[in-house]
Amino acid sequence: MSEAKPEEETTEMRIDPSRASHLNSNLSTILSRIQSTGSQAPIRLVAVSKLKPANDILVLHRAPHSQLHFGENYQQELLQKSLLLPREIRWHFIGALQTNKCKPLAEQIPNLWCVESVDASKKADQLEKGRHALCEKEKEYEDVPLRVFVQVNTSGEEEKSGIEPSDAAALCKHVRERCPHLKLQGVMTIGAIARSQEAKEGQENEDFVKLKEVRDQVAEELGIGKEEIELSMGMSGDFESAIRCGSNEVRVGSTIFGERPAKKDAKVKEEVEDGEK
Ligand SMILES: *Cc1c(COP(=O)(O)O)cnc(C)c1O
Repeated sequence: MSEAKPEEETTEMRIDPSRASHLNSNLSTILSRIQSTGSQAPIRLVAVSKLKPANDILVLHRAPHSQLHFGENYQQELLQKSLLLPREIRWHFIGALQTNKCKPLAEQIPNLWCVESVDASKKADQLEKGRHALCEKEKEYEDVPLRVFVQVNTSGEEEKSGIEPSDAAALCKHVRERCPHLKLQGVMTIGAIARSQEAKEGQENEDFVKLKEVRDQVAEELGIGKEEIELSMGMSGDFESAIRCGSNEVRVGSTIFGERPAKKDAKVKEEVEDGEK
C-alpha cells in the first residue's frame, strides 16, 4: 500500500463556507431528531457519504461536530477517500460485497471500523484473511478486530442482498468461531421502501420487527445476551421509527448530504482550479 499523507492532502482540500454551514446545520438537525426519540441507549449515527466528495466529509469530521462514523458503498471510492482523509475517521463499508474484493478491502484500509454487509461465510473468510494480513503489517492493529454486521434480507425481495433470516444464526456463529480477526457487532437490514412509507402512518415497520426477531434468535442460538448483538437499521426516511423499534445504529445519507449525483458524475476530489489565480 502506498504511504498516505493525510495532513498534506487535507490542508489542500478546499472548504466552501456556505456548503460547510449547510452540512453542519443538516447534521445538527439529524442529531436533535435522534435525541427527540427519547432513546435511553446511545445511538450511533453513520453519515452515509457515498458519491459525495471528500471535503464534505472533512467538514463534518471537524469541529463543531467531529463526526467519526462515515458509511461508503463502493470499494474504490472508499479506498480513495481513506487515503485523503484523517485516520481518526471510522469507516463503515455498507455496500454490496463481492467475495474476491473482501480481502483487499480489509487489508488496505486500517481504519475500516466495520463491514455491515456480510451475507455469506466465504465473504467473512476473505475479510478475516485481509484483516489478518493487515494486523501482521501494522502492529498497532494487532488486537483490533474488524467489526462485522450480518446483513439480513428481511423483506423477502429477491433482488435485495442479505442472507435469509433462517440462515443468519449459522453465519453469526461462523464469524464468532472461525474468524478470530473479526468481531460480530450485530445484524443489519435495508428493508423495503414501501414498508418504510407505510410505517409512517403509525404502523410498525415489518422489516424492523423481523430484524429484531432474527437478533433474538441469533442470541439464543449462540447462548449470548441480546444486548451483545446490535441492530443496524434505519435510514433517512425512517430512522426515528427504527430507533423506537430498538435500533442501535442508523445510517443516514441524503438528509445530511443532499440528493446523490449519478455514480458516473460523482467526484471524490473536487477540482481546485476553478476560481483560483
Ligand atoms: C445509501 C444507503 C443508506 C443511506 O440512505 P439515505 O436514504 O440516503 O439515508 C443507508 N444504508 C445503506 C445500506 C445504503 O446503501
